[in-house]
Amino acid sequence: MSTTNPFAIAQAQLDKCAEIIQLDPAIHAILRMPKREIHVSIPVRMDDGSIKVFQGFRVQYNDAKGPTKGGIRFHPLETIDTVRALSAWMTWKCAVVDIPLGGGKGGVICDPKSMSTGELERLSRGYIQAIWQFIGPDKDIPAPDVYTNPQIMAWMMDEYSKCSGKNQFGVITGKPLAVGGTVGRGDATARGGMYALREAAEVCGIDLSQATVAIQGYGNAGFYAAKLVREMFGSKVVALTDSQGGIYNLEGLVPDAVLEYKEKTCSVNGFPQCESITNGEVLSLDVDVLIPAALENVITDQNAGNIKARIVAELANGPTTPEADDVLFENGVHVIPDFLCNAGGVTVSYLEMVQNFYMYYWDVDRVYDCLNKKMTSAYHAVHLTSKKYSINMRQAAYIVAVERVVEAMKLRGWV
Ligand code: GLU
Repeated sequence: MSTTNPFAIAQAQLDKCAEIIQLDPAIHAILRMPKREIHVSIPVRMDDGSIKVFQGFRVQYNDAKGPTKGGIRFHPLETIDTVRALSAWMTWKCAVVDIPLGGGKGGVICDPKSMSTGELERLSRGYIQAIWQFIGPDKDIPAPDVYTNPQIMAWMMDEYSKCSGKNQFGVITGKPLAVGGTVGRGDATARGGMYALREAAEVCGIDLSQATVAIQGYGNAGFYAAKLVREMFGSKVVALTDSQGGIYNLEGLVPDAVLEYKEKTCSVNGFPQCESITNGEVLSLDVDVLIPAALENVITDQNAGNIKARIVAELANGPTTPEADDVLFENGVHVIPDFLCNAGGVTVSYLEMVQNFYMYYWDVDRVYDCLNKKMTSAYHAVHLTSKKYSINMRQAAYIVAVERVVEAMKLRGWV
C-alpha cells in the first residue's frame, strides 16, 4: 500500500493490528469506520461586509470507553479523510493512556493566518452553533489542535453555554485559566512526549544530557519540546524548522530567543548565526533524537532510509507512512509512535475535565505527577508488547489500545 490518504493509512494500521491479534471480523469492521460524522456549512460575516461560507466537520469515531474527545483544526487544506484519521487516532490515543474517553476530531477548512480576530471569533461561534446539539461534557469534548488556541476554546465554550442555556466549562478543554482551564495544559503535549522520551532513552541506553535534538515544526508542540528537552534533560537542540524553512546551529539554539524572533518575523527562518535548512533536510540530520512536531506524512519511504536519529519521538499526528515504519524498524530506529508520544495533551485535557466537574482546581505538581504516571506506564505497556510480539512500537501501541477498546465494546454488549 502506498498512499498518503491519512484515513487509508489509519485503516491499514488497524488491519495490521487485527491480523496480529486475530481480531473478530465483526469487531474489526466496526473499528474501521467512524460511528458518526457531522458535516456543516458555516456562513460568516467577513470584515468587508460580505458573507463567506466555510465547511466544517466533526467526526465521532468510537465512544466505547467514554465520551468522544479530540481537537479542532483550522486549516486551508483540511479534508474529511484527515479528520476521520485523526478521530481514529484519538480513539487509540485515549485508550493507550487508559483514560475514560473515546475518540473524535473536528476541522474547518479556512486560512486562519489571513483572517482578523473578529472573523475568527465569528467562525468559531458559527462552528459551535452548527454542531452544539451533538457535543457536550458527556457526549463529545473538543480541544485545540493545529491553528486553534485557548482564546478560540473560550469563544467556543461561551457559545455552547449560550446555546444550551447554562455555563458548561467541561464541554471544551484547552481553555484559558480564567475560564476553567487547567495549569499545565499549555505545554502538556510536549511534556508528555518528554516523559515518554525519558523512558525510551533509558531503554535505548542514550544519555539525554549529551544528546542532540532536531525538531520539525515550531508551533505549540515543537516550541515546548525544544524548551523542555533542554530544561528537563540538558539536551542540545541543534535544528528547528517551521512551515517557511529552518535553522541549524551545532552549538545549540535557545528556544525562547527563537520564538521571540519568530513572533517578530513570522518564521524561524533567518535567525542569526545559523545555517538555513529545509523541512526535508531536518529529518536526515546526524542527531540522536528527531522530533517531528508538524503535520502528517513527512517521513516516507523516500527519506526514511536517511534518518540517522536513534529515537524518533512523534509529537505530530501521523508523521510516518506505513512503508517508512518498516524501513525505520529494519534500521533499528526506536519510534515513539504519535498516539503514544503526543497523548500528553489529551491526558491533561482529561484532568481539566475532571477539575471542571469538581469545580476545584489543582496545583501544577499534581497535574505533572498524573501526566508522568500515565505516560510512563503507557510507554512501558507498549514497549513490553513490542518485545512480546517482536513488532514495532506503533503496532504494539495499536495492540494495547485496540484490546482496551474491544474489552469495553464487549462489556457493553456491542458485539
Ligand atoms: N489536539 C490534541 C491531540 O491531538 C489534544 C486533544 C484533546 O485535548 O482533546 O491529541
